[in-house]
Amino acid sequence: MTTFADLGLLPDLLKAIAEQGYSEPTPIQAQAIPLVLAGRDVMGGAQTGTGKTAAFALPILQRLAPHANTSMSPARHPVRALILAPTRELALQVEESFRDYGKYVPLRTTVVFGGVPIEPQMRELRNGVEILVATPGRLLDHVHQRTVNLSQVEIFVLDEADRMLDMGFIPDVRRIMALLTSGKQGLLFSATFSDEIKKLADAFLKSPVLVEVARRNAAAELVSHLVHPVARERKRDLLVHLIKSREMKQALVFTSTRLGANRLAYQLNRSGVHAAAIHGDKTQGERLQALEEFKTGKVGVLVATDVAARGLDIEQLPYVVNFELPNSPEDYVHRSGRTGRAGATGLAISLVCGEETERLAEIEKMIKVKIEREIVPNYGPDVREAPGIMGRPDRDRRRGADEPRLTRGRRAERPAAPAARPARPADPIFSKPYEPGAAPPAETRARQPQKGERQVAALLGGFIRKPG
Ligand code: AMP
Repeated sequence: MTTFADLGLLPDLLKAIAEQGYSEPTPIQAQAIPLVLAGRDVMGGAQTGTGKTAAFALPILQRLAPHANTSMSPARHPVRALILAPTRELALQVEESFRDYGKYVPLRTTVVFGGVPIEPQMRELRNGVEILVATPGRLLDHVHQRTVNLSQVEIFVLDEADRMLDMGFIPDVRRIMALLTSGKQGLLFSATFSDEIKKLADAFLKSPVLVEVARRNAAAELVSHLVHPVARERKRDLLVHLIKSREMKQALVFTSTRLGANRLAYQLNRSGVHAAAIHGDKTQGERLQALEEFKTGKVGVLVATDVAARGLDIEQLPYVVNFELPNSPEDYVHRSGRTGRAGATGLAISLVCGEETERLAEIEKMIKVKIEREIVPNYGPDVREAPGIMGRPDRDRRRGADEPRLTRGRRAERPAAPAARPARPADPIFSKPYEPGAAPPAETRARQPQKGERQVAALLGGFIRKPG
C-alpha cells in the first residue's frame, strides 16, 4: 500500500495530511503527486470526490515551499501558483484545501471570485500572495485594475476544465493563459476529455502525462439507482411524499432551471419540508448560507441546478433526487456521484415523466445499468400517457410505498420478464431502454401477470417489480 510518505512529501505536509485524517492517498493522488513534484505537466481525468484537489495542492505547496519567506514586503510574495476554478464554491473549497494542507508552510493563499465587492480582494492581493485561486472573470477584472501581476506564475492549474467549457469561460481562460510565461508548469483537471478540452490542453501543456481514475459512480457501485415513473404535474407531490416516507434528512434535489429550483424550494417549504435553492442567480452570500444550512442540517433539502452543484463538497449524501432528468447523461453521473461517497451507500432517485424516456435511455446506456422502475401507488404516470396504471395502482406494486428500501441498480445483463415484451407495446413510453434476455427473473415467474399489469410492464419496459 502506498503511503503519503512514499510519495516523497515533506514532513510539514505529512503532518497536515494526518490532521485531516487521511490515512492513504487516493488513486489520483498516488498517480499525480510524484509527477507534479517532478515538474511534469499533467492532464488529470478525475471528478470531484476523487481527492483531485489534494492531488495538485500538496505537490504545489511542496514545490513552492523551499522559497517561502516570512518577509512582510508584498514584493517578496509574488503570485507563484494560479488555480482557475469555474465556480465560486469550487474556488472557495480549493483555497480552503490549500490552507488546510499548507498549514505548516509559510505561503500566503487567497481566493477571488465575482459577485462580491472587489475592494477587499484588491487589498489582499496588494499585500502579496503566493497561491491565488480564482474564477476567470474576476481574475481578469483584477488584471485590468492592475491589482495582480501574473508574470511570476510558476504553476498554473485549470480545474474542472470541462465545466469551464460548459460555462463559456474558455475565452477568458485563454486570455489569462496569454499573460503567463511559457516556462510554467501546467496542470489540467477535467472529468471528461472532449476535443475542445484536448485542444486547450495542447495550447498550454508541454508533453503532459495523462492520469485517469475510474469514474467514481460507474465503478464504485456504491450508488443505487431508482426510477419512479410519474406524471409531470405530480412530481412535486411525489417528492414530498418520498421525503416524508423515506424520512430523508438530507437530500440534494436537481432541477433543470434556476426558476424551477426557486419554485420547487418555495413549494417544498409550503408543504412543510425545509428547503433552500442554490443556483447562479443567487448572491454569493445566499449560496454560502444555503450550503451552510444544508451542511448543518438546518435545511434538509437543497434544490440545485447542475452548474451550482458542481464542485460542492458535501460528504456522504444519502439521497440525490433528479426532479428532472438532466439533458446530458454526464450530468446524471455528476449528480448521482454526490451520493454514495466514502464507502457509504447512497440512492439516486429519478422522477421520470413520459417526455423524459429518451433521456433515461441515454443515461442507462452510459452508466451501463438498467435502472429499476417502481411506481409509487397513487403517484403513477398520467393515465393519458399510460392507460391502466392510475386505475389499479395497488396491483402495480403490492409493497407499501412507505417502506424504505435501497434498490441496487440492475446490471444490463439482467433478464426481464416475458410480460415486459409484448410484440408491440401499446405506447412507446418507457418501453425503449430494455433489451430483455431469455429467462424471466424469479419473482416474475410465480404467476402470469394480469392484463393491467401487462400494460404497465409494457409501458415501463419490463423492469417493474410485480407482486408474486
Ligand atoms: P476532491 O475530489 O478534491 O473534491 O475531494 C473530495 C473529498 O475527499 C474532500 O472532502 C477531501 O477532504 C477528501 N479527501 C481527499 N483526499 C483524501 C484522502 N487521501 N483520504 C480521505 N479523504 C480524502
